[in-house]
Amino acid sequence: MDIMSSQERSKRMSLIRSRDTTPEIVVRSVIHRLGYRFRVHRRDLPGNPDVVFPSRRCVVFIDGCFWHGHNCPIGHVPYSNSEYWREKIARTKIRDSKNRRLLRKEGWRTLIVWECQIKKTEQLTRRIKRFLENGNRDNGGKQKNQ
Ligand SMILES: [Zn+2]
Repeated sequence: MDIMSSQERSKRMSLIRSRDTTPEIVVRSVIHRLGYRFRVHRRDLPGNPDVVFPSRRCVVFIDGCFWHGHNCPIGHVPYSNSEYWREKIARTKIRDSKNRRLLRKEGWRTLIVWECQIKKTEQLTRRIKRFLENGNRDNGGKQKNQ
């Protein structure tokens, strides 16, 4: 039985949508629930990381799959104007990796959370926790999965 008016329903839908799919808000609330303290958008760091953990020297980037060229269905380059998009996205990727290199040089560890990974909250939570608690082992070293 559906007694909601369509207007009401679409209002509610958009509320749900914006709350559940804004990647930054999801990531922040995951971190918040884990109990870590963080800052957002430090303009003084290369690439303006989305979440910064100053005392741990960790930063998290929350990247849109399309704009940052993730190899996943969302990151798929459109068929029309594909040359244009490919170039644009390639430039973004170069800028991203340059910024991350700069950060690593300054002793920061970086984690990228892709837009498409947001919905799997449990996995996301585990990943963020592991990243924050792993000390320096996570970066560039031999990493055993499972
Ligand atoms: Zn993706």
